[in-house]
Amino acid sequence: MNTVSYAPYKVDKNHILSVAQKAHDNQSSGTSDNKRLALINRIKQLLIQRDAVLISHYYTDPDIQQLTEETGGHVADSLEMARFGNEHPAKTLVVAGVKFMGETAKILNPEKTVLMPDLNAECSLDLECPIQEFSDFCQQHPDRKIVVYSNTSIEVKAKADWVVTSGIALKIIRHLHQQGEQILWAPDKYLGHYIQKETQADMILWPGSCIVHEEFKATELSQLKITHPDAAILVHPESPESVIELADVVGSTSALIKATQTLNNQKFIVATDRGIFYKMQQLSPNKTFMEAPNAGIGATCKSCAHCPWMGLNHLESLEHVLESNCNEIIIDENLRQQAMISINRMMDFSKQQNINMTGKGNA
Ligand code: SF4
Repeated sequence: MNTVSYAPYKVDKNHILSVAQKAHDNQSSGTSDNKRLALINRIKQLLIQRDAVLISHYYTDPDIQQLTEETGGHVADSLEMARFGNEHPAKTLVVAGVKFMGETAKILNPEKTVLMPDLNAECSLDLECPIQEFSDFCQQHPDRKIVVYSNTSIEVKAKADWVVTSGIALKIIRHLHQQGEQILWAPDKYLGHYIQKETQADMILWPGSCIVHEEFKATELSQLKITHPDAAILVHPESPESVIELADVVGSTSALIKATQTLNNQKFIVATDRGIFYKMQQLSPNKTFMEAPNAGIGATCKSCAHCPWMGLNHLESLEHVLESNCNEIIIDENLRQQAMISINRMMDFSKQQNINMTGKGNA
């Protein structure tokens, strides 16, 4: 894999453990049905009072996704979340996801108030690509086109030539390769390597990774497939190459959901955050969904197939943010305009090519 030789930043394991513990404690705290119902009703009232709409990612907890749909909001991947916010008339967008999603919503909706249940909801891909080190890296490769995944900070997006989602990354890199461009890719090394292999493009890869997808294990996945030979294996391309090689379908969150509807299989083994099962089961209630194996026995929170930062979104934090109007996303206007250039390039490309960026493509 043609990654950079130095590892600039790694998310501290103890930090991940403490976030996961906090998410777990919060989930356990509102256990009574009465309390849950009271919270849901109060959130519904507050959304109306504040002229707010809830926009949630597929990886959030089922309670959040259900409430989002019941209140006229939208459950989607990161860019679709931001685009929905743009089309919805509400003055306030409440983004249940991780910080870069709130930032992207604000980049595309500068006139709206964007709130998040917890501003500590980070992403290892974003954290592992700090702007200073990334800028130094870019300076060392001035001739390459800078293409960054949407899981990055506004500063990194502003530095890039292109921002891409997993639904359109393969097509844009193939296009740039055909134009004779060399690519500097960040931050996910696995997704970058997958695209490099598919397109044969000249790419150097920033060495970031997703702590959830990196944990899926190929050997255990092969064994599970032997037990369930009729199951289709669905893999997000942020997973290691050995896991991707076992996939029947490789794709973005939206593409994997679509595959559960279009394939004839009745069983699926899914290598992505287990929050996605809510939508898959809703769309195909008679099908069976299994988590792809991760570290198994003796595993830490790093291998529970659920993003600890996504877990910081829960009913209590949602109620709190709507009651107090706190946790607003504020971004610098110059940076926003700069980041818009690289995002608009992707959007214009998708329009020209008539591509749906929500992941109907292969990655
Ligand atoms: S699941 Fe991985 S890529 Fe998604 S927000 Fe969590 S750490 Fe980031």
